[in-house]
Amino acid sequence: MNDLVQERIDAARQKTAAAKRARQELAEARQRGLRARHATKLRRTPWPSLYEYALAHGCATCKAKPGVLCVAPRKAAAAVPTDPITRLHAARQRAGVRHKELDVGRAPWAGERTPGKRYDTLPRVQP
Ligand SMILES: [Zn+2]
Repeated sequence: MNDLVQERIDAARQKTAAAKRARQELAEARQRGLRARHATKLRRTPWPSLYEYALAHGCATCKAKPGVLCVAPRKAAAAVPTDPITRLHAARQRAGVRHKELDVGRAPWAGERTPGKRYDTLPRVQP
């Protein structure tokens, strides 16, 4: 009787471990896919994100220097985790949008652009 119970407990353990392994493999595959998709998008998009544009400007609201995050603890706490631009003040976001629109307006039409070339006027950060 005890053997039978032990057998069932072992079977349940193995089933749980297998399900956990399957979930982990799925999560890793998903992360690989997301990274690949992000890399492809960066290659195809000649524009930096609005966040990069906004961050390249100083903040008129909190006087944060270019490249430095806004001093806005409440915004940081309420920020959407996947979108870092929500951590910046609205004035800075608008400055980034204006800058990006200027760059897009000055660049050649989409069909005439060289793939992989950047047409933005953001300062280049030296690695
Ligand atoms: Zn700010």
